[in-house]
Amino acid sequence: MPPPSSNSAKPVYLDANATEPLRPSARAALLKGLEVEGNPASVHAPGRQARALLEEARTRLAQAFGREADSVVFTSGGTEADSLAVHALGAVHGRRVILGATEHAALHGAARAEKVPTEILPVDGAGRPDSARLREMLSGGPPALVCVMAANNETGVVSPLAEIAAICREAGAQLHVDAVQAAGRLPWGSRDWNEEVLREASLAVSGHKMGGIMGAGALILPHDRPLMPLLPGGGQERGRRGGTPALPALLAMVAALAESRAQDWQEIAGMRDELQARAVAAGALVAGVSAEEGAGEATTERLPNTLSLILPGVSGQTQLMLLDLAGFAVSAGSACSSGKVTSSPVLEAMGYGAQAGQAIRVSLPWNVQPGEVQAFGQAYVEMAQRLGARQPAPAAGVGWGTGA
Ligand code: PLP
Repeated sequence: MPPPSSNSAKPVYLDANATEPLRPSARAALLKGLEVEGNPASVHAPGRQARALLEEARTRLAQAFGREADSVVFTSGGTEADSLAVHALGAVHGRRVILGATEHAALHGAARAEKVPTEILPVDGAGRPDSARLREMLSGGPPALVCVMAANNETGVVSPLAEIAAICREAGAQLHVDAVQAAGRLPWGSRDWNEEVLREASLAVSGHKMGGIMGAGALILPHDRPLMPLLPGGGQERGRRGGTPALPALLAMVAALAESRAQDWQEIAGMRDELQARAVAAGALVAGVSAEEGAGEATTERLPNTLSLILPGVSGQTQLMLLDLAGFAVSAGSACSSGKVTSSPVLEAMGYGAQAGQAIRVSLPWNVQPGEVQAFGQAYVEMAQRLGARQPAPAAGVGWGTGA
């Protein structure tokens, strides 16, 4: 497929980590939800019908993570699920909060809003939280809520949750895992992402990151338990989250998770790896992956669809604009809600220095076509050549960036 050249052509969408396109099964579930007339809290027949669908969705979501139905608290999305965790599992219990340095703003913002004592857990050059440091942090001090993401939204790097969960268990700390990007994309049952490792952790998930629609999410607790809500409202979700649940969006989320789990992610990983090789040959660095690894077989475990590319010396904003003009939708730095492109705090925490402002994130959606990735690869290489990207220097010091 030739690269789309005119502004009238539909852009090639490569920003799935911002939001995934709607999946067919999610669309069907959404339409079914829209047909329901009742409110799940009403006792009449339409209300009972809505209730039955809501509870079926709850059971399916819980079972997908090996949990009982009442462990699921439905929310409006990942941000609310993370906020509820910090509030109800952290602040309310007087726990200090330990946040991985590359956690999403949803958690940093929640900790600030709750005014809880917060400590930052450093990460290594790949962005993986430092487990030895966590052990030290937990060896003294008050009880803690530890928040570590399953996989990073910018680099896709998977956290060593098996190790982190074991350290938390030993120290009696509560673990909360932001699974917004991992749920559906990371094979459930893999080393760091399975029922046994996560049995005492709470999980945050979000519908639109799996191919559902915006406005649905869940906090999945280790087991059924009461929580002090952020929104008391009318006592919905058994007093743990007030407000009428967004039934159609929640049904879509649960359908999307099932479809996402059934996807052949290897195929997508293959496209990502080909693109990575082309970009590296054109002078790019891959955030989270050492220079040697980036040029060959990458062993750092990452989400199959995610690639964070640094073009040394070229701002992410410039790259984003050029690629947008060429008809490709990717993101730069953190997908800042204001639309402004800033230096990525994730890459800064990983030690990339000024290069943290020279990255773009390519995240392949579930329905990406090989021709689209190839066309993007071509456009990227042309851009790199035109801008005269400097060849990356060998990795040195902290992180795997050149620190330039
Ligand atoms: N956590 C992570 C890792 C994310 O990437 C995002 C969204 O980008 C969120 C939380 C927030 O999720 P939502 O958009 O559903 O509020």
